[in-house]
Amino acid sequence: MEGTAVPRRLSSGPRPWEVATVTAVTRETPSVRTIGLAVPSWPGHRAGQHLDVRLTAEDGYSAERSYSIAAAADDPVAITVERLDDGEVSPYLTEDLRVGDQLEIRGPVGGYFVWETADGGPLLLAAGGSGIVPLRAILRQREHSGSDVPVRLLYSARTLSELIYRNELDGQHDGVEISYTLTREQLAGWAGYARRVDRAVLAETAWPEGKHPLAFVCGPTSFVETVATGLVALGYEPGRVKTERFGGTGGP
Ligand SMILES: Cc1cc2nc3c(=O)[nH]c(=O)nc-3n(C[C@H](O)[C@H](O)[C@H](O)COP(=O)(O)OP(=O)(O)OC[C@H]3O[C@@H](n4cnc5c(N)ncnc54)[C@H](O)[C@@H]3O)c2cc1C
Repeated sequence: MEGTAVPRRLSSGPRPWEVATVTAVTRETPSVRTIGLAVPSWPGHRAGQHLDVRLTAEDGYSAERSYSIAAAADDPVAITVERLDDGEVSPYLTEDLRVGDQLEIRGPVGGYFVWETADGGPLLLAAGGSGIVPLRAILRQREHSGSDVPVRLLYSARTLSELIYRNELDGQHDGVEISYTLTREQLAGWAGYARRVDRAVLAETAWPEGKHPLAFVCGPTSFVETVATGLVALGYEPGRVKTERFGGTGGP
């Protein structure tokens, strides 16, 4: 019908599977790779959304997993994958995939764990391990749009070498404050936190609730539960604490 066209990025319903071509594989940490993807009919995405990857074996067996989009809305599609040694899908994506390979993907997916400039802030971003991926997209979105919304990022990883996007994060300035915590190993002189995120760490690093912050919390399920519960206990409005659980039981 004439006059009722809906922009594709806003249309509802699942997108079809399509074939993407790997354009780049970048080593982020010993076990993490960022994979650039060329997707011919990509409809555009918003910072915080994810996509699904489907691997199919020769015998027809297939496995699907979700991966956050690591890129701001205007940037080419990329995902950042952490290898789980006993995993079915992530070892293939991080070790075997090469530039030029093809991958079945579907997306973008999700409309809840999303930040756009108009959503404002101040922003409290809390990441456990690879949970930093969609939050990096949000930071890039903020930068690209010229937003001056103040941000506090709390990022928990096991060791220094497991911090993803370290150089990029260290280069953040202009209203972005970052607190790190390393839970398993700290080198001499480490100035950040040295334990799992708890109520006291949150009280010291998060915006006071009086500033009406908007929080995005992402990572392994146990990390997300701890942080989200802690923020609500500090007075954050539950409706302004957005969560994305990556699965798994252990936290960084
Ligand atoms: C919305 C969404 C977005 C995601 N985005 C990312 C992303 O950006 N980067 C990324 O690396 N992963 C992301 N994940 C996790 C990803 O979908 C897979 O679960 C992960 O790659 C493991 O898949 P696998 O097949 O290698 O392991 P599996 O074979 O599924 O699992 C192997 C073992 O690891 C455990 N496990 C599964 N997932 C996790 C986890 N996240 N942490 C710890 N242990 C786990 C399982 O319980 C099992 O014991 C996301 C998940 C969701 C739901």
